[in-house]
Amino acid sequence: MPLKKKIVKKVSRKPKKEKEVQEELLLQPPRGMRDILPKDQIYWQQVRRVTEKAAADFGYRRIDIPVIEFTNLFVRGVGSGTDIVEKEMYSFSTKGGEKVSLRPEFTAGIARAFIQHGMHVSPKPVKLYYSGSCYRYERPQEGRYRELFQFGCEALGEQDPIIDAQMIQMAWRIIFQLGIRDVVVEVNSIGCPACRKNYRNLLVSYFESKRQKLCIDCKKRLEKNPLRILDCKEDKCEQVKANAPQSIDHLCEECRVHFKNLLEYLEELEIPFELNHSLVRGLDYYTKTVFEIFPRNLEENAKKSALAGGGRYDGLIKMLGGEQTPAVGFAVGMDRLVSEMKKLGAKYYREPKAKVFLAQLGSFAKKKSLKMFEGLERSGILVAESFGRGSLKSQLKVADRLGVELTLILGQKEALDGTVIIKDMTSGTQEVVDAQKIVDEVKKRLKMTGTIIKTI
Ligand SMILES: [Zn+2]
Ligand SMILES: [Zn+2]
Repeated sequence: MPLKKKIVKKVSRKPKKEKEVQEELLLQPPRGMRDILPKDQIYWQQVRRVTEKAAADFGYRRIDIPVIEFTNLFVRGVGSGTDIVEKEMYSFSTKGGEKVSLRPEFTAGIARAFIQHGMHVSPKPVKLYYSGSCYRYERPQEGRYRELFQFGCEALGEQDPIIDAQMIQMAWRIIFQLGIRDVVVEVNSIGCPACRKNYRNLLVSYFESKRQKLCIDCKKRLEKNPLRILDCKEDKCEQVKANAPQSIDHLCEECRVHFKNLLEYLEELEIPFELNHSLVRGLDYYTKTVFEIFPRNLEENAKKSALAGGGRYDGLIKMLGGEQTPAVGFAVGMDRLVSEMKKLGAKYYREPKAKVFLAQLGSFAKKKSLKMFEGLERSGILVAESFGRGSLKSQLKVADRLGVELTLILGQKEALDGTVIIKDMTSGTQEVVDAQKIVDEVKKRLKMTGTIIKTI
């Protein structure tokens, strides 16, 4: 994203005795960070509503974890050979000398919380969902930021592949409900530690024979993390990996059955999926199922960027010091969803519109109007006002612009009499009513029956 012209303002500190210190203040956040302004919140609000609804419908409970964790949690959990840990983490030392990092993803932190709070004794699976920001020091590009927002679900303590299918179903449903319909689910199985060892050896000997054709990064990966070569987007590596051995041909019996069952469940759910043999998701903790969901309508040369992704991580809890706990999860990139929704002109959240405007004139009436506003609002009537404006004319202008049905006018006389004027904005007729009965009078005219619960 091209940076806008830098707005620079000089801020001068209090002059010190010797010399004046001036420091430049850049009126913009660091690269890859941005504000999400009210005009965009209509999309974000829609994403929040749809994701929260899915979580509730599938029985997930919210968990919030800190933005900062000890760095070694991610080194051990996500994996030291991964891009996220090697290149993309915001790591620093605190004043107390603790080595910490901003979370680059949620799963490691949630696994830590699961162990710390003894959640393994809870009925299984423990179903948790989260939503919040992550931080990755990546090269910022369209739809990608260094501060990114994710919503995700984790189910801990269940090994049945039906829950893997359910995860894909949830992610799929969220994307579909946001109006993004033309998508494809890519799935793969990368096996368990038992069968992966064998597969890894085959992969190493295959890539070893093609070593010269690999990019520099992949030559390094060959030693550290050969599976990641399958993830490489470099043209030369793409060609080499086309003939590489495929993990699903080398699964142990348990992993093979697990994958077969998963695919049957997906067929049952009528979710269109494709096998992607080079899908490995790049994080060390994955086992068996991995999946990603992509938009199909990619423009030419557009970088393929997943809307959602997830997989099984049966070894993570134990690796971090907990009891052996099979688990599976997924996350959707909220930033990616919003940018796709905009591109498609998808439906966004419409805020409820006020049908009533409350106008006031004079200091006594102004005081009274605060209370009247509260009374109406508590009864479920959404009221607009412009209390800061003095003249009735300018307030009525605002009421007109908002397109309300009724305007209540509380002048000095009405305030003293305990009355209020109701003006019908369509017919222009005015009527004086008892201020005590204002809620009923408004409801009668708006043809509201009962109490309407205001939606957020
Ligand atoms: Zn296996
Ligand atoms: Zn490569």
